[in-house]
Formats: sequence, C-alpha cells, structure tokens
Amino acid sequence: MRRDILIIGAGASGLMCALTAGRRGRSVLVLDHGERAGRKIHVSGGGRCNFTNLSVGPEHYLSLNPRFCMSALARFTPRDIIGMLEEHGIGYYEKEKGQLFCRRSSAEVVRMLREECRRSGAEILLGCRIGEVRKGAFFSVETSSGTMEAESLVLATGGLSHPELGASDWGFRIARQFGLGVVPPRPALVPFLFAPEDRDLFGELSGISLDAEVRCGGKSFRGPVLFTHRGVSGPAILQASSYWSDGEILEIDLLPGRDASGILIENRQSKRELRSLLGDYLPKRFAQRWAAAYRITKPVCRCSEKELREIARLLHHWEIRPKGTEGFSSAEVTLGGIDTEELSSKTMEAKKVPGLYCIGEVVDVTGQLGGYNLHWAWASGHAAGLYA
Ligand SMILES: Cc1cc2nc3c(=O)[nH]c(=O)nc-3n(C[C@H](O)[C@H](O)[C@H](O)COP(=O)(O)OP(=O)(O)OC[C@H]3O[C@@H](n4cnc5c(N)ncnc54)[C@H](O)[C@@H]3O)c2cc1C
Repeated sequence: MRRDILIIGAGASGLMCALTAGRRGRSVLVLDHGERAGRKIHVSGGGRCNFTNLSVGPEHYLSLNPRFCMSALARFTPRDIIGMLEEHGIGYYEKEKGQLFCRRSSAEVVRMLREECRRSGAEILLGCRIGEVRKGAFFSVETSSGTMEAESLVLATGGLSHPELGASDWGFRIARQFGLGVVPPRPALVPFLFAPEDRDLFGELSGISLDAEVRCGGKSFRGPVLFTHRGVSGPAILQASSYWSDGEILEIDLLPGRDASGILIENRQSKRELRSLLGDYLPKRFAQRWAAAYRITKPVCRCSEKELREIARLLHHWEIRPKGTEGFSSAEVTLGGIDTEELSSKTMEAKKVPGLYCIGEVVDVTGQLGGYNLHWAWASGHAAGLYA
C-alpha cells in the first residue's frame, strides 16, 4: 500500500497533521496501535481537555532550544484551534489564567479531528502494530496490516507517560535509527514522592490541600499543593516538577503574599500553642504536623522574638527534598525527546533525513501546565501538515 504521507500516531499532533495535509490534497494514512484515536485527548483536563491557552508563547515551553517552537506557534495560534471548535459547535470556557477547556467533553474534540480527517480524505487505521522502518526511494514501514510505503513519514508517537494510553518509545528508537539525537526523556508535570522521614510526618495528610508558592530550578509557581499518601501533587507542584533535578530541594512558601513575621509578632502575647495559631492560617492537621516536624511545642508567648522570626522564615521557606517522582505512570508529559537541533523549526522535517518529520510530544518541546502541551501538538502537527 502506498500513500504520500504515513503518520505514526493518531494522537493530537498526528490527527492535526493528517487533516492539514489532507486539505492540501495529499494522500494520508494515519496508523496507531491503539483501538481508539486521541486517547490522551480523551483523558486530558479531567475529561474536558484544556485544549489551549490564550497566552501561548515560547516562555511557557521547556526545550534545549526554547526558541524552536516560535515559528510553529506563530502560524497556529489559540484563535485557530478555537475557530475549529466553534465551526463544530463545541462549547468551551476559560477556567483560569487563559486556560480554555471544553464545556462538555474532550470526546467532542476527538470527534472534530476525526471528522476533519474524513472530510480532507485522510484515512486512519487503528489497532495496527508497527515494526521496522526502511528508507529507499520511499519510506517503507512493516505493520501488522502489511508493508506500507510513503514519500513522507511523520513520527507522532508522543511521549512515554501513561503506557496504558498507548505510549511507547518507538518514535525515539526510529529517530535514533536515522541518526537523530534524542535528549534523554524524563517524566514531567508529575507528583513527587516523600523521602521516608517526610512520609512518616506528612503521609497521613492525604487529601489536604493548601495554597502555596513552590520554588525550584529558579522558577516559582503559585497554586494549590495537594498532599497524597506518598508525597505531594497539585498544580503548583506539577509545574515545579518540570524544573526539578534528582536530589534537588523544593522550597515551599506556605503563606505566600502574607507577612508571617508580622502575624507571629502581633500575636506574641498569645497563650495559644503555635501550632494552634498556625491552624488559623493553614489546614489545622497540616499545621500540627509541620510544627511537630520542627519540634515547635511552646505557646507563642514563650517564644522569643528571634525564635518567632526564625519560624516565620521557615513558613516562607519550607524545604523538602523529595525521594523522586511518581515516574512515567503518573506523569502528564515527557521532558526531552528528539533534539530540535535535528529539525527545521518551519516544517518539522529532519535536516539530514528528507521526508522524515517529527511532531508533538516526541520532540524536545514540553509545555507548562495549562493547555500548552496540546497547543504544541496542534501547532507542530499543523506545521508539518503544510509541508509533508
Ligand atoms: C492524564 C493527562 C492529562 C493531560 N491533560 C492535558 C491538558 O489538559 N492540556 C494539555 O495541553 N495537555 C494535557 N496533557 C498532555 C497532552 O495530552 C499531550 O502532550 C498530547 O496529547 C501530545 O500529543 P501527541 O500527538 O504528541 O501524542 P499523543 O496524543 O500521546 O499520541 C501519540 C499516539 O501515538 C500512538 N503510538 C505510540 N506508540 C506507538 C507505536 N509504537 N505504534 C503505533 N502507535 C503508537 C499512541 O497510541 C497515541 O495514540 C495530558 C496528558 C495526560 C497523560
């Protein structure tokens, strides 16, 4: 079977590439080993997919070359994906800070992409196992449905997170086979695991959440921090995880935007135990555990001003050194991937392998939390679809 373009991966980037190339009159076949297209779109944003962010821009992406994403993002903007949803009558709303979510269900976005593929003539073959790839005059791909040939081959197999949703390292292996460098992949937007001593202290707080500012790798993120029985999660923690390296400390400001010193000094005549006073500002069970961690057992009135100032400092700079992260099974995305040095930022084509394109999460471009990852999938898929 021969087509102009073979796309491996019927996820967000692969489907966008397919419908864009199909509209140009190219014959396109999308192959996926899963039984459903767009499985990550289905589960994303808790089933309502945060499909873009109104403030999309390179500053929201991590990559060895943070400028690589600029060209594709400039040619496919939030307005473009919003326009597609509107044409299909899909309702959406702004949840917070520019994050756009579907009003009803992510399934509507998958349906829209499939419908646009159908209209453009792009075909999708699911449940198809993919094997070896060779390149002669054409790319030739061994599959469980026979050998497929094409002028252009698009790697759209995504990252390594959530293997149960179809993730595999196939894209990275094929990239390496063709001599492309791959920045070592690691989990990102992922919860942390407590070190044993912190797990003993805070493990029972599972379900408690507080508003904090989390600092790591020179970045800081304000938002909810959620305790799990194994560690910490929640938006601010997930964001920080993308900037964390093994062994590093996470610094958490437990009273962001407040003057802890002022609060404690104001109350310095109080006979209440400090953990009880802190319970007015933090979840009570957390305040107790936190005070126990620092062996603070006295009433406030028995603390010296110096002690109170030190406690205030600790409240703004609570440090934890996680044992690690929950790994790819829980990560939302993969950091690293096919080195952008190898690709044209305009077309996503490999500079040294004409006809080979790489798009979406398989490439070393990773967005922050908030719709940036799906937007990169749309934008890079669109860029390749214009040239493949
Ligand atoms: C739980 C969760 C929630 C998320 N929520 C959001 C969100 O709200 N907003 C946001 O912007 N991002 C979100 N993301 C991230 C976003 O879903 C991904 O970044 C995006 O889907 C990547 O698109 P992609 O096309 O590169 O890869 P994918 O969408 O992962 O598609 C890759 C496809 O390739 C197929 N494939 C892989 N290996 C093979 C193989 N060997 N043979 C054949 N087929 C193969 C897979 O089956 C899959 O269909 C979330 C991710 C997760 C896991």
